[in-house]
Amino acid sequence: MVTVGTGIGGIIIIDGVLLRGAHGAAGEIGHMNAIPDGLPCACGRNGCWEQYASGNALVRDARALAASRPGEAGLLLSLGDGTPEGVQGVHSAKACELGDLVAIEAFRGVGTWLGRGLADLAAILDPTAFVIGGGVSEAGDFLLTSARQTLSDKMSGKRQRPTPELPLAKLGNNAGLIGAADLARTNSQ
Ligand SMILES: [Zn+2]
Repeated sequence: MVTVGTGIGGIIIIDGVLLRGAHGAAGEIGHMNAIPDGLPCACGRNGCWEQYASGNALVRDARALAASRPGEAGLLLSLGDGTPEGVQGVHSAKACELGDLVAIEAFRGVGTWLGRGLADLAAILDPTAFVIGGGVSEAGDFLLTSARQTLSDKMSGKRQRPTPELPLAKLGNNAGLIGAADLARTNSQ
């Protein structure tokens, strides 16, 4: 599972069992390197995947697009305070639904970055599916269409295996809470 929220989180389930790692820290996929010497990340490194395929990246890109093409971004800008800096993630999602081309482009860009990282993960894990959750995933196909296309284009071994499915998570923002409770329940038995 890949959670696309402020950053990117991940969990890896193999044969129904959560992969914890030697120290309980497995699945920190958001800090895979996407661009050598790229944008600084809170983890202390540069160019981490979550700097390009997350809610933070979406807001940054939407603001930059709105600043460079204000004439096309009137709808997006009007949902905030009228300035590019006033654009928030919720405005981008709403503007997408209303057909704002700049907002749709911002989501498409984040989806493309998402697909690139998923292609790398597919090379390592060969999964059946990547379940996509987190706040940004609520935009649905505005995010997932470009992610699916990029994953399909970039993944290795395409002749030997199908492209993993990208279903949306069903539990929304409560998924982490419910998962933690379930883990405690199953581990206490
Ligand atoms: Zn990082």
